[in-house]
Amino acid sequence: MKECNFCKIIAGKSPSNNIYENENVLAFAPLKEHIIAKGHMLVIPKKHYNDIYDIPKEELHHIIEAVKTISQKLKVKFHADGINILHASGKVAQQSCFHFHVHLIPRYKDDDLDTWPNTGYKECNFPEIYQEIANLF
Ligand SMILES: [Zn+2]
Repeated sequence: MKECNFCKIIAGKSPSNNIYENENVLAFAPLKEHIIAKGHMLVIPKKHYNDIYDIPKEELHHIIEAVKTISQKLKVKFHADGINILHASGKVAQQSCFHFHVHLIPRYKDDDLDTWPNTGYKECNFPEIYQEIANLF
């Protein structure tokens, strides 16, 4: 099986611009052609998990702690006005590398990025669908 690109980065077998790491997570800059904002970076677990469905909750704790730490630093350093924390699980959700990852995208006033589609979902059977979801718990 082909080794995943992010596992290669963690193993030091593939070049990357590593920014921050601890025992559990690594944060690094995307490839230059994929950077969409000043300070955009990726945060990944050092162990391989495909997506939100197979990553253990403890690993998510490590990820979100790093996300919090890095977000604060970016806000102070670059005076970001906000940040998007983006994640995709599954091909249909536009996940491109199947090693769990979170994008940190600092936002600046008038940056013209649109990370939040506002097209209305028309077929939602509200409120029945949400009652079905609530019944799962
Ligand atoms: Zn991997």
